[in-house]
Amino acid sequence: MASAFDYAPAPESRSVVDIAPSYGLFIDGEFTEAADGKVFKTVSPSSEEVLSEVARAGAEDVDRAVKAARRAFEKWSALPGSERAKYLFRIARIIQERSRELAVLETLDNGKPIRETRDADLPLVAAHFFYYAGWADKLDHAGYGANPRPLGVAGQIIPWNFPLLMLAWKIAPALATGNTVVLKPAETTPLSALFFADICRQAGLPRGVVNILTGYGDAGSALVEHPDVNKVAFTGSTAVGKAIARQIAGTDKKATLELGGKGANIVFDDAPVDQAVEGIVTGIFFNQGQVCCAGSRLLVQESVQDELLHSLKRRLSTLRLGDPLDKNTDIGAINSEEQLSRITALVESGEAEGAERWSAPCELPSAGYWFAPTLFTNVTQAHTVARDEIFGPVLSVLSFRTPDEAVAKANNTQYGLSAGIWTEKGSRILAVAGKLRAGVVWANTFNKFDPTSPFGGYKESGFGREGGRHGLEAYLDV
Ligand code: NAP
Ligand code: MG
Repeated sequence: MASAFDYAPAPESRSVVDIAPSYGLFIDGEFTEAADGKVFKTVSPSSEEVLSEVARAGAEDVDRAVKAARRAFEKWSALPGSERAKYLFRIARIIQERSRELAVLETLDNGKPIRETRDADLPLVAAHFFYYAGWADKLDHAGYGANPRPLGVAGQIIPWNFPLLMLAWKIAPALATGNTVVLKPAETTPLSALFFADICRQAGLPRGVVNILTGYGDAGSALVEHPDVNKVAFTGSTAVGKAIARQIAGTDKKATLELGGKGANIVFDDAPVDQAVEGIVTGIFFNQGQVCCAGSRLLVQESVQDELLHSLKRRLSTLRLGDPLDKNTDIGAINSEEQLSRITALVESGEAEGAERWSAPCELPSAGYWFAPTLFTNVTQAHTVARDEIFGPVLSVLSFRTPDEAVAKANNTQYGLSAGIWTEKGSRILAVAGKLRAGVVWANTFNKFDPTSPFGGYKESGFGREGGRHGLEAYLDV
């Protein structure tokens, strides 16, 4: 018998996107092969189907791209801000016009549900370009003095969890301020950046202003190393972030590093349970938990722990895992086999160390990379699952008795990117938020993003801010 939760399949059409069998690097306004002719394949993590073959950049290609960006910089930086704004507005509008195509493409290459690419990623990508387009002719009023100067060529390296959104966070402020860019997308999600290259051509952006190098970590490293790169912007793991910091030490390269996190989501006893449960789900199961600012540590006041966990497990049992192109899907595929084995190993360490595992009862598809929504109870602060970033759909639950204890536990981490507070009392929100060492603190909500709001971390979550007026500083000589 059909239950109230049986849905008919509602697949988004794949035919709205035309993926070519192969793509080159985008250098100086042209698609070109890698100098050594190397290529690699990108697969769809929900099916393991090969989507396309893309060029793999090496050091020689990095040099070509940086030279093209340097040549373009002279004219681009000399344009009046109002002229640069026209290009950015044009790009933003084309992204809106092509958003359905881009959402399907991103879902295919990344594995995240179409509901997220359609309703979160793509609207935020367009909003970011609109926002920074608005700043391009107002830089004198941004608080950095009159006529602030761009830095030059920005080398930008992004991860696979929000491919097009991270591209937007990097490219929009760089171009608005008059810099030119060489960007390397993650190796598992190269396609949306290549489609963006096409959008640059469609918008008539002068050649060389944006260059896209698909490739592996060695291409990222060569980009960081290149002597003619003036600014390095990186989002990814803390380990690679540290390596980059060592690489650029002693040079005059400016850098922003946006690294990992282990965000605390704090639920007080006066919080409305059902709303808190929705916020916890958004906090850790959005994008399969592959979010640097995920609320991966739930801190719940002891007196409401049982009630909250009961509701949370019931809610997790209703999440729909499966085909990411189905509009009813809540939980898509894990981005890669490698990431899946990282998640699996960390979850096994949690069990081995004595935490109690509960996974939502759901059937995992036979092909592709999947992990059921999971939570751990009986977690202590010393457990690996309470300390290490899992970057998957795994929540660690700890409890507390007093607000001071909640703050102490929330701050007991090497990271400092995000936190959440759930309570009915406004005064408590203010008192607790002020004591949390996290770049962003959400109150009675989670994972809310807006281009006007600066984003970034403390401690091993990195330094520098992206978004908002603060995000301009990273690309200006101030
Ligand atoms: P990662 O290795 O740091 O990758 C991020 C980007 O850096 C990718 O484009 C990557 O290229 C590139 N890269 C790799 N090694 C490099 C090097 N030595 N120099 C310059 N660039 C380099 O992250 P990951 O392997 O994709 O994920 C590992 C962990 O990082 C995750 O489990 C998660 O904890 C964390 N992570 C955090 C974020 C975040 O938003 N803060 C995002 C993703 C991952 P390749 O793709 O070719 O390796
Ligand atoms: Mg892929």
